Amino acid sequence: MDPFPFCMSDIVGLLNLTIRRKHASSIDVDCPFCNHKKGILNINLEKNVYRCNYCDKHGGMLSLYGSCYNLSNQESYIRIVETNNTHYKIDPIYKRNYFGVLYPIYKSHICGTI
Ligand SMILES: [Zn+2]
Repeated sequence: MDPFPFCMSDIVGLLNLTIRRKHASSIDVDCPFCNHKKGILNINLEKNVYRCNYCDKHGGMLSLYGSCYNLSNQESYIRIVETNNTHYKIDPIYKRNYFGVLYPIYKSHICGTI
């Protein structure tokens, strides 16, 4: 099971990244690190990873969020869970996972789409 109660499309929404192009399983956005404005940062929505083809910054969901706010992975995880409500409408089931943090899994959570 995916240990994350959120997905890359949630992070894109939280960071308010500008989407330039949409592909089958990925999107191209403006890079928040080098501020390249032509959608050169590719985000893979299936693998939940990103890479900028200009500054070569890359990583996963926590890295993308944490690098924007200068947070550790654990701080990012908690902040994302607390602030993300994109897909969440139905009663959650609480699980303890990843960093030992209690987090809700929502039945309506649908990832990989924007
Ligand atoms: Zn970049």
